[in-house]
Amino acid sequence: MSVADLLLLGIVLFVLIDFSAGMVIDYLNEREKAQPLSPEGAEIFNLDEYAKSMAYGTTKYRFEMLTNVISTVVILTAIIVGWFAWLDGYLRDRLSNNLLITVVFIATLIIISTVSNLPASYYSTFVIEEKFGFNKSTEKLFFQDAVKQLLLSLAIGLPLIYAVAWIYQELESQFWIVAWILFAAFSLFMFVFGTRIFLPMFNKLKPLPDGELRTAVEDYCQTQGFPLSKLYEMDASKRSTKLNAFFSGMGKVKIIGLYDTLIEKLTIEETVAVLAHEVGHYKRKHVYTMFAFSNLQTLIILSLMGWLLGNPNLSKALGSDTPSFHLSMLAFFLLFSPVSTILGLINISFSRRNEYQADDYSIQTYPGAREHMYNALKKLSRESLSNLNPHPVYVAVHYSHPPILDRLANLKKV
Ligand SMILES: [Zn+2]
Repeated sequence: MSVADLLLLGIVLFVLIDFSAGMVIDYLNEREKAQPLSPEGAEIFNLDEYAKSMAYGTTKYRFEMLTNVISTVVILTAIIVGWFAWLDGYLRDRLSNNLLITVVFIATLIIISTVSNLPASYYSTFVIEEKFGFNKSTEKLFFQDAVKQLLLSLAIGLPLIYAVAWIYQELESQFWIVAWILFAAFSLFMFVFGTRIFLPMFNKLKPLPDGELRTAVEDYCQTQGFPLSKLYEMDASKRSTKLNAFFSGMGKVKIIGLYDTLIEKLTIEETVAVLAHEVGHYKRKHVYTMFAFSNLQTLIILSLMGWLLGNPNLSKALGSDTPSFHLSMLAFFLLFSPVSTILGLINISFSRRNEYQADDYSIQTYPGAREHMYNALKKLSRESLSNLNPHPVYVAVHYSHPPILDRLANLKKV
């Protein structure tokens, strides 16, 4: 067996392990869900709502199983029949510039994956979310969003991939240092301006209107030295009934967004408690730790790439005798999926820890927040039919926020 064959075997194995592990974790989570309503849970749901939350979970679980099976079969088939090498050869026959081949190759993958994800996303929005009363989106809005997202990922992704491929062409195994500086600069830009620039393409952000809420918010922001001009109401209700709020940006370029659905369904005190949680993300500098970790992550991946990408066996594993940046990179990512899984687990555990810190901050800085935050979180969970009993492994892999009952328990003891 040649090295390329071994690599191919490794790639197929990792795709299969990833798939099976995902299925097992989903199954564990589905099984864990079926428990009688606990006294803590009864503060959130009545029996009917609880049954509805479990039905919602099961519907999503079954649909996810189906989409996982289909996407894994498609990817495995493409790898085994050498479709990626075929696409590379097809482009190579028609284009002579290597960088251009890479860009068109990646563009093709972005377009195919976006378009092939559309039916699942459509079903999820207009059948599942609709059935449980969450969906507010229209078909027109749905397709507008899809087109905008596709154009954005091409407009951002292609120049970036062109730059990296060019750096690789010039510097080869040393490319990772310069590529890392490029990515760090890009991610700095995205962390600072990303939401500011791209969110308004999808949603309207407007300052909080005058009134009781604004006064209460002003009072709180003053105690925190947080400028009210950075606080917006977002028209989330045009897509979904679910409630949320977010903090984004760095330094002077920061914003807190409150969903209009949140403002509508929470009392003034509860809304301010949620706002205090978002200010907590800012004051505890969570964006900076996330930024640092994301750059460390890129550094690890790029240095491994610098070490391995020159090996022609990577392209060969996918079926091409002509080594290319894009095929080698694709084989690399398929082979290194276990490493990126581990990095993802670390990242998401930071995120859960940050949520506790932000909840604590809310309690420490806003009088009465313990009770208001408690009530706000209960409403948030009820309105999104949250799973009260997720499996711990599922939480470790998928939850950026702690499970609701853990979060409520934390509020009690802070
Ligand atoms: Zn948060």
